[in-house]
Amino acid sequence: MEYKLKRLLVIAAVACAALSVQVSGLLRPIDASLSERRMAFSPRDAGGEVVFLGIDKRSLEAVGTWPWPRDIHAGIIRRLGELGAAEIYLDIEFGTPSNAASDEILAEAIRTSPAAIVLPVLLQEVALSAGGRQIEASMPLPMFRDAAWLATVNVIPDPDGVIRRFPYGQTVDGDELPSIPAMLSGVLGPSDSEFSIDFSISPDSVAVHSVAELLDGSLGEDALRGKRVVVGAHAIELRDNFAVPVHGIVSGAMLQILAAETLSQGRALVEVNAIVVGLGLAGLLSCLAFFPFLRSLRNALLGLACASAIVETAAFLVQSESGLIAPTATLHLMIAGIAGGLIVQEMHVLGWLLRFARLENLSSQEILRQVFDDSTDAILLVDEEGTIVNASRRAIELFGGPSSGQSDPLRTLALPEALAADIRRSVSDAKAGGWTDPGHADLILEVAGETRIVEYHLVPSMLPLPSRSAGGRVREGCVICVTARDVTDQRGREASLDRVSKIDELTGALRRAEFLRKLENCPEDESGKAVVVYALKLRGFKTVNLTLGRQVGDDVLRSIVRRIGDCDPRLGSVARLGSDVFAVHSACPLDLDEAAEISRILVAAICEPYALDGSTARVGVHVGLAFHDQPIGRDVEATLNNAEHALDEARRAFGDAVRSFDPDTSIRQEKARRIERSLWSALANDQFFVAYQPQVRLSDLRIIGAEALVRWRHPTMGLVSPGDFIEIAETSGFIEDLGRWVLNKACEDAVDWPAHMTIAVNVSPVQFQRGDVIADVKRALASTGLAASRLHLEITESFFVEGSGEIRETLHDLRTMGISLALDDFGSGFSSFGYLANFPLDKIKADQMFVRNLRPGDKNHAILKSIQMLAQELNLTLICEGIETSQQLDFLRSIGCDQGQGYLFGRPQSHPDLLEAAMRRVPKAV
Ligand code: C2E
Ligand code: MG
Ligand code: MG
Repeated sequence: MEYKLKRLLVIAAVACAALSVQVSGLLRPIDASLSERRMAFSPRDAGGEVVFLGIDKRSLEAVGTWPWPRDIHAGIIRRLGELGAAEIYLDIEFGTPSNAASDEILAEAIRTSPAAIVLPVLLQEVALSAGGRQIEASMPLPMFRDAAWLATVNVIPDPDGVIRRFPYGQTVDGDELPSIPAMLSGVLGPSDSEFSIDFSISPDSVAVHSVAELLDGSLGEDALRGKRVVVGAHAIELRDNFAVPVHGIVSGAMLQILAAETLSQGRALVEVNAIVVGLGLAGLLSCLAFFPFLRSLRNALLGLACASAIVETAAFLVQSESGLIAPTATLHLMIAGIAGGLIVQEMHVLGWLLRFARLENLSSQEILRQVFDDSTDAILLVDEEGTIVNASRRAIELFGGPSSGQSDPLRTLALPEALAADIRRSVSDAKAGGWTDPGHADLILEVAGETRIVEYHLVPSMLPLPSRSAGGRVREGCVICVTARDVTDQRGREASLDRVSKIDELTGALRRAEFLRKLENCPEDESGKAVVVYALKLRGFKTVNLTLGRQVGDDVLRSIVRRIGDCDPRLGSVARLGSDVFAVHSACPLDLDEAAEISRILVAAICEPYALDGSTARVGVHVGLAFHDQPIGRDVEATLNNAEHALDEARRAFGDAVRSFDPDTSIRQEKARRIERSLWSALANDQFFVAYQPQVRLSDLRIIGAEALVRWRHPTMGLVSPGDFIEIAETSGFIEDLGRWVLNKACEDAVDWPAHMTIAVNVSPVQFQRGDVIADVKRALASTGLAASRLHLEITESFFVEGSGEIRETLHDLRTMGISLALDDFGSGFSSFGYLANFPLDKIKADQMFVRNLRPGDKNHAILKSIQMLAQELNLTLICEGIETSQQLDFLRSIGCDQGQGYLFGRPQSHPDLLEAAMRRVPKAV
């Protein structure tokens, strides 16, 4: 649709432009030229009624003078009359008198002539004496014209000086005079109007005779009888010549004859109105827009060419047959314009497309070249003959040989044999259609005196290539694209990364994953023997770091790795699994005894003092071991985990303990892991609650307080004992949240108790280390309104093992707040009397193992007595827990123990139960 509109617009625009040009007359010369060509192509003969009697050179010579005496003219008239000419047209000027006698002879001849005599009248522009110009008619003398007809001979040349038209006649002194052609042909037209002469009428077909022939009598009667004879100049010398179309120069008389022939043959050419023709053709050309066939530019141009040919043929036929001149220049111009318009229109788009294509082509080529050259990878194109046809800058740097001064950089390249062989192989594979990507390969090259690793990759392509062997003819050929990269640095980095990922940098021991890989390759187990994995954790290494410094600590670690590796030839790879955790596996299968022996050797080797930098360091070690009783290569990780589980067990024991992996322990540990996973959500899910165990004054067995003991009711595990989860909560740090929650809950409940009752809350050392116990306590007291004096905090001896001045300060602050501090489980751990004196305590809580195991004659009596005396001396209250029997109670009373706690007085119980018990004076159980 769009193209139709565009074409109609082009046609309309061109038609308007062409018609404007036509109207302006600019096309006239072209039209004239076209119509002349048509005339030349369709010559026609004169009618033969008119005879030209020319005053030619021969005639001039025959008479000898010029102008001729008028009696010569008279003789011609007379002779013509004798020969039977019907009309005599004298195209000779008789306006001025000459010799009176000869003038009279001529007048006489005219008067007496049997043939009608026609004399010429010439209108001339003459200058007036008063200035200006006017048209004057040059008439024959009256003596001549009185007996003759007058006819005008004026012609009107076109601007190019060529005569194409003749007037029908002219008005002279008010009289309308016909022109000679009009008179000759007898076709009269309106004066002062013109007709176009048909120059297709050939002058050669006009009967021409020389006056000389007439005068010498050689011209016979048959040539002239009944004819209209035009007598006029026919010699160039007489200067009566006119330029005409088709025939060049003709004499004035011949021109008149041709014009007369035109009229007599009815061929006065008439011009068709160009505008009408133009508009008609524009309409016709509009089909260019509507015929789908003409949609393509080629067909449209063909159509236009045909239109042009048809128009011209039609014009030719019309002109030759009907004497109508079609001004086809407008039409041709229009067609040419439309063709040009269509071409421009198409070229407009095509031109842009071409430009873009060229630009794009250019830029993509440039870009490709740039990319090719700037690539950090070396790129080579090698043809199937092994010749390098293109090489990037980097390739020249990489493969450039010693003769790099060569002008052609490609000549400086010498491919290493390995690469060349690969290329040859790829070419033959690709040609056979069986190329498979071999991946990357490495080359070791000497580049600028350095050994470099170059990784390369080949990709073959089938391309049209000029073949040298085929004399430069283009044929399908195989090109190998070699991409090469210097990977020396990358490989170095990878190697060090690989090393770092496999090896512990500090000690040179393997990392876990690498250790497992080595373990996979250990020999098969024999009957009753298996490879053994030892997991080792140092004891007291932290102290070495703290006391002797990190540098010494590092040296100790390095020495330990060396010692583990060297202590027994039956041991294999050593790994460092954590800061002070190691693993080693046996290099061969071992039985139980051998495994135990090696573990002893390991302990002895590690515990040997380390003399370093002038100081001596000592560490202990826990050892866990596990047999790899799986088929070799399988579950090596499980074996290492088992050894670590065994290590966990060993860590619970005192001293440099060694433990073998025990599946039961593993189950326990699995449970511990489950507990750890569940702990965090338990608080949010309200799975904890607090039980209160009464504390009594032994003198009257009155409940004076209670200890808050946390309980956990797990949805699937049921009631989980604090013994199972408190340690895990401490390790994971969850104890902070849990302890805070218990403190709040206990204070909240204790507010409801009788005012004399205290509440004892256990506080883990982790809470002191990681949290802000003072802030927690203040918040709990403030939010519940419990008096500080009613809150007791129970801390354990382990608290002081890692204790510091900071903890002492915290305890002081708590006491200042009015809170009592009790030392729980006294005598169970690292008992030291030193901290009893140094730390601000109110109460000692003797560990329940002394009370529970109290039997007659047993040493616990002495211990408890000593503790009682110690407490008394230090002014501390003694409370004994684990009282289950009245005998135990009696003994404790007998030694003067102040307070007691145990199942005898009440188990840990719910808050309401405790309140109820507190209401009774004596606990229910007693
Ligand atoms: P503990 O602080 O020494 O608490 C006393 C433990 O002895 C309680 O065990 C209690 O049920 C038990 N016990 C009391 N009387 C007797 C008795 O006559 N015979 C026997 N065999 N046992 C008796 P429980 O509740 O299992 O608590 C164990 C440990 O868990 C506590 O020892 C305490 O160290 C810790 N614990 C309990 N609750 C908390 C808590 O809220 N915070 C912290 N940090 N530790 C807690
Ligand atoms: Mg306690
Ligand atoms: Mg206790």
